[in-house]
Amino acid sequence: MSKIDYSTLCPRPKKVQPGTKEIEIVSLGCGVQSSTMVLMAAAGQIKPMPDAAIFADVGWEPVEVYDYLEYLKPRLPFPVYVVSNGNLRQDMLAGSKNKTTPKNPPFYTKAVEGGREALLRRKCTEHYKILPLVAKTRELLGFGKGERVKKARAISWIGISTDEMTRIKESRNSWIDHRWPLIEKGMSRQACLDWMEQNGHPPPPRSACIGCPYHHNKVWREMKNNQPHYFEDAVEFDKGIRDGFSGAQSQCFVHRSLQPLDEVDFRNDVDLGQMTMLDECEGMCGN
Ligand code: SF4
Repeated sequence: MSKIDYSTLCPRPKKVQPGTKEIEIVSLGCGVQSSTMVLMAAAGQIKPMPDAAIFADVGWEPVEVYDYLEYLKPRLPFPVYVVSNGNLRQDMLAGSKNKTTPKNPPFYTKAVEGGREALLRRKCTEHYKILPLVAKTRELLGFGKGERVKKARAISWIGISTDEMTRIKESRNSWIDHRWPLIEKGMSRQACLDWMEQNGHPPPPRSACIGCPYHHNKVWREMKNNQPHYFEDAVEFDKGIRDGFSGAQSQCFVHRSLQPLDEVDFRNDVDLGQMTMLDECEGMCGN
């Protein structure tokens, strides 16, 4: 069976003029993939050594993410910068209350008074993650805000594993090239977790906003069962954005069912007593 050379599937960095200043920057989210990437770099298993890592703080991640950031910092031989473009939770609640137009997550909207059911366009990632990252990268290259970047380029490492290849996207900035070191190495999310375990690191947490509308039911279910304080926080947030934002004719929800989060049934087939493949196989195995 042929082994896939994942490195050939990634867009290559553009050629640059001789004399161009180059820096290698890691986009650090402190989840499984980007944490593995920085620790592998620190161990010399991904080269060259980055010049810095940047953590864009949306202000509403589980405390375990911030704890993992503190775990990583002393283990990395390069600086970690924390940047922020506001607190997503506070901004959304204020936006709904004051009827402004914040940089919203992809909330689900319900048809009321002529409005229609839809998924709001996601603006949060650009505002809270990409823009502060780009601003810090520009600064590290030695250019001020709004200044044209000349004869300089940043290679920005993105922590995407082989099971998420559809997320590969090239940079929109001409002076930034993206690089995907885990794809180059053919590493899946599980391979990252295995590497962490083999190298004595605790498993990183899941990195995402507590009330992200992209959460699958499995994530909500685990949060409700195992981390009820986060679930209650998300429920309160969900209620707080219900009336929508500036000009909205629709109610907003964080769950795709268009139900208040505390009314959604997250139980899976196992919880509901239905037969699963595992039940079936156990009954048949060994015959
Ligand atoms: S985790 Fe979700 S809510 Fe948070 S910035 Fe990303 S898409 Fe938006």
